[in-house]
Amino acid sequence: MTVQEIINTEQIVKEQPTPKFKVYTARQLDKVEQLKSLPEALRAEMEVVAEVLPFRVNQYVIDELIDWNNVVEDPLFQLTFPQRGMLKEEHFKKIKLAKETGEKELLKQAVAEVREALNPHPAGQLEQNIPRVNGEPVQGIQHKYSETVLFFPSSGQVCHSYCTFCFRWAQFVGDSSLKMAAKESGQLQDYLREHREVTDVLITGGDPMVMKTKNLRAYLEPLLSPEFDHIRTIRIGSKALSFWPYRFVSDADADDLMALFEEVIAAGKTLAFMAHYNHWREMETDIHRQAVKRIRATGAQIRSQGPLLNHINTSADDWAKMWQTQVEMGIQPYYMFVERDTGAQHYFEVPLAQAWATYRNAMKQVSGIARTARGPSMSATPGKVEIQGVAEINGEKVFVLRFIQGRNPDWVQRPFFAQYDENATWLNHLKPAFGEEKFFFEE
Ligand SMILES: *Cc1c(COP(=O)(O)O)cnc(C)c1O
Repeated sequence: MTVQEIINTEQIVKEQPTPKFKVYTARQLDKVEQLKSLPEALRAEMEVVAEVLPFRVNQYVIDELIDWNNVVEDPLFQLTFPQRGMLKEEHFKKIKLAKETGEKELLKQAVAEVREALNPHPAGQLEQNIPRVNGEPVQGIQHKYSETVLFFPSSGQVCHSYCTFCFRWAQFVGDSSLKMAAKESGQLQDYLREHREVTDVLITGGDPMVMKTKNLRAYLEPLLSPEFDHIRTIRIGSKALSFWPYRFVSDADADDLMALFEEVIAAGKTLAFMAHYNHWREMETDIHRQAVKRIRATGAQIRSQGPLLNHINTSADDWAKMWQTQVEMGIQPYYMFVERDTGAQHYFEVPLAQAWATYRNAMKQVSGIARTARGPSMSATPGKVEIQGVAEINGEKVFVLRFIQGRNPDWVQRPFFAQYDENATWLNHLKPAFGEEKFFFEE
């Protein structure tokens, strides 16, 4: 495309009014037009699962991303709509029975019990990474790796649609004791003032892009003043490029958002837009292409990350196509994650050995430009652990692993070894190789 053609298409898109943001939650499953042609029993099952796991999907995802001719297998359908298998059989039956009694309290109790059994706070998130200012714990901030602080603005704790596999699902189910959210940005500034070692602030959620630009500005602008010169990079973690690309093109405050991005960059910061993708099909619409171009035109970088998931993206060819499409759009592949040990993990998990094979087979198909994604990586309690491969050393088959990030920075980049286990899906399933009792990072 020539520059003039880009501008022309941009004008065409901008002249079309943004479709109204219309969203469906668990109580409106019967309102989704496309579901009406599916068997009634299927919808009843979805309603059972949606009692436990968060459900929210918008009209753009329904109309533009899901291939309704290929439901239920369609990866974008699996990404957003609840499926029976997402609850273990015993949990499904328990909720179904409780629902059938029609007694609200009974159902509530059953739902609470099942949620508690789904490890709502993996990797010790609630206890281990919460920082303190003047001795007081600060809600809405996590600080695990010294350079990077995560910030959860209270008005960004929802998404344009929810992913069925979300590892932060517990934040969305309405139980405020499970939520992490910052009341306001003052505490973030207080914390950052005291922590000169922090170079990166990662605004996350939910999805910070659900916020009005005005609200996002109130968090970001203070960080542009000279007292925060140590903050070099502002990252925004978001799936809005997939779930609501109008946010960047034609929403009422889209232009103001682009101006804010430019302002951050003009202040000398790097702005890294950390885009969450699971499938190349999320990138095929015109409005998505426009959104990517507009973000890049501000000078912001876009990097991509997302987990490897059973039922959604186990094919190496799909990963290769996704990474290749991304680099062609100017998006840099960043992380391939392993599905975390929470929520519907049993439905989405893939053995570590298979995850590595998929990663390798995808890497083999793309040039070096697209080989920048690290992984498969487990965000576990001690750190981000990457599966580097499977090897045989002195006759013992082992996993070769390394920390990409460690709770202790000295662990980073030290290779270590675990006994090969074809079924292992998470770090806690692994045992040290070579007859050793403990991994080096275990006390
Ligand atoms: C992944 C992650 C980060 C960022 O790590 P990078 O390797 O710098 O992208 C920061 N904090 C937590 C808790 C994380 O899980």
